[in-house]
Amino acid sequence: MAQNQPIFILAEGSQRTTGRDAQRNNIAAAKLVAETVRTTLGPKGMDKMIVDSVGDIIVTNDGVTILEEMQIEHPAAKMIVEVAKTQEAQVGDGTTTAVIIAGELLKNAENLLDKDIHPTVIAKGYRLAAERAQKVLNEIAESVTEKSEDVLKKVAITAMTGKGAEAAKEHLANLAVKAVKQVVEREEGKLVVNTDDIKIEKREGKGTDESELIQGIAIDKERVHSGMPKVVKGAKILLLDVALEVKTTETDAKIQINDPTQMQAFLDQEERMLKEIAQKVIATGANVVICQKGIDDVVQYYLAKEGIYAVRRVKKSDMDKLARATSARIVSNIKEIAKADLGSAGTVEEEHIGDEQWTFVKDCKNPKAVTLIVTGGTKHVVDEVERAVKDAIGDVSAAVKDGKVVAGAGASEVELSKRIREFANSLSGREQLAVQAFADAMEIIPRTLAENAGLDPIDMLTELKSQHDKKVKWAGLDVFKGKTVDAWKAGVIEPLKIKTQAIKSAAEVAELILRIDDVIAGSTDGKGPAMPPHGSGMGPDMM
Ligand code: ADP
Ligand code: MG
Repeated sequence: MAQNQPIFILAEGSQRTTGRDAQRNNIAAAKLVAETVRTTLGPKGMDKMIVDSVGDIIVTNDGVTILEEMQIEHPAAKMIVEVAKTQEAQVGDGTTTAVIIAGELLKNAENLLDKDIHPTVIAKGYRLAAERAQKVLNEIAESVTEKSEDVLKKVAITAMTGKGAEAAKEHLANLAVKAVKQVVEREEGKLVVNTDDIKIEKREGKGTDESELIQGIAIDKERVHSGMPKVVKGAKILLLDVALEVKTTETDAKIQINDPTQMQAFLDQEERMLKEIAQKVIATGANVVICQKGIDDVVQYYLAKEGIYAVRRVKKSDMDKLARATSARIVSNIKEIAKADLGSAGTVEEEHIGDEQWTFVKDCKNPKAVTLIVTGGTKHVVDEVERAVKDAIGDVSAAVKDGKVVAGAGASEVELSKRIREFANSLSGREQLAVQAFADAMEIIPRTLAENAGLDPIDMLTELKSQHDKKVKWAGLDVFKGKTVDAWKAGVIEPLKIKTQAIKSAAEVAELILRIDDVIAGSTDGKGPAMPPHGSGMGPDMM
């Protein structure tokens, strides 16, 4: 028996790291991701410029945008990017916060690993602390309703502070709050906001302060026929997801035509059918027709003759929004169109947007879908303003939905840290250390806010903690004046959901990464192993 022969269980070219090395490598990668976005946090955060493979430039300080554009490869790092994506999907803001907390939780876990505390103990402590954090946050949060306009406006402004929208943030905050209030609905006693009901359209070449809210939907389509009116007041709108055409021979059936009169008869027949279709539409009393499919030239002609405004080939998503804005019912069968299906709008109008012609369906009565036209001088500005406005809409919606908000500027994190530390004291054993480490990790937010503002993080944190010990629950950091401030009174307000979601996903990913003690990377057909190139300590090729 050849006992000394090495045994290979993996394919040639695959790599494997185990135990401590795997853990260290993963933690190092996660920390790197957090480090990358750290400098962008808060009103004084810096921006990043990302140049993609085709040379397009993005200037942003939006956490999730940065991480998505970076095309990260390391598997553990990718898990951190997922945290940002989840945060974006669930709340629409707080992506940098979530990533920074995840990085800090792992960094503190590393210190415990150094003290020979087993990863499962750390994971368990983190889970206990994360559960407690949810409870504490819910306790300290303040209540809001959709009528708390003043608070909601502060939420919107806080979301946009330090972003590209800075110059017009008052104006944009008003629009964001108005938009959310317009589309909010009560379902089974609960407030529901679907942010898809707020369509955002970008427009270059105008000042950001010229952004506006349309009580209705703007679509990138012109009217189909120049004989149609450019403006229709008191619009009665028919929405169709069926073509206003005669079905052409879809099968292979051929029509044999032997002499010119037959041809004429055929054409007459077709024209008659088209005229009938047009008449059906006209009979509804609609003066605007918006169609998801095509509209035949003949039908266009008859509609134009009646002074009807018609648009064709409109996106499905826009059709749905139009239905919600105008209270129309989308009709799928021409035979069944009825007056009751029509929706309404104050005005339907064709307008120039740059060098395109758009259709504005506006001044709707109590629309349940609206359009926010975001303006800015150049493409890069408009893009960043759009991201900021999306954050604001996400935050205001989250505040309205949950009815709960907290103060930002590090206030909620310091309070949370304090209360989790108190909780730790009620525990014993090694878990206590993990819960403490979790409490410490919360302080990364005020510390980073201070650092990014060029302030001394240690001084600031000491001051903040002493305020919280004096029961100033919302003591936070005034990053502009370099001192502590009651963040609630200062109007730095965020939805509770930002914090609960960020901590939940950060704790989950930290736990997940801590539990990994073996990384096996299969070879990727000759291109070498799919292992991260840099790691700490012993690399797999040294094993
Ligand atoms: P994220 O991607 O996590 O939302 P941001 O760059 O938007 O990152 O920064 C959010 C942080 O900035 C939050 O902790 C928030 O409380 C803080 N913040 C926002 N406005 C202010 C302000 N005026 N003063 C101090 N901190 C603020
Ligand atoms: Mg933010």
